[in-house]
Amino acid sequence: MISVFKVRRFGCEACGAHRDHLSWDYDPVPVCCDQPMSEGSTARQTVQIITDDVPGGFTVHNGFKQPTTFYSKSEHRRALSANGMKLAEKGECGF
Ligand SMILES: [Zn+2]
Repeated sequence: MISVFKVRRFGCEACGAHRDHLSWDYDPVPVCCDQPMSEGSTARQTVQIITDDVPGGFTVHNGFKQPTTFYSKSEHRRALSANGMKLAEKGECGF
């Protein structure tokens, strides 16, 4: 689990107050009306997960009997190794 430092929006169920609070995951939640505020979803930022997916896919003409479209680089690598081949080392083919 990676700790994230970000703006979190907290709400008080008792009085309806909202507070944007810049904090780490493990920081204590702010207190309002003598009770911990609950974290809302409004201020949460989307965490981008980096994958090797290729949006829209890419078509490979080399190494296959017919042009084959892949939607991620790992998919391409798997298909190549299934055929007993592998990609050139990083830098060799500018991939
Ligand atoms: Zn309150």
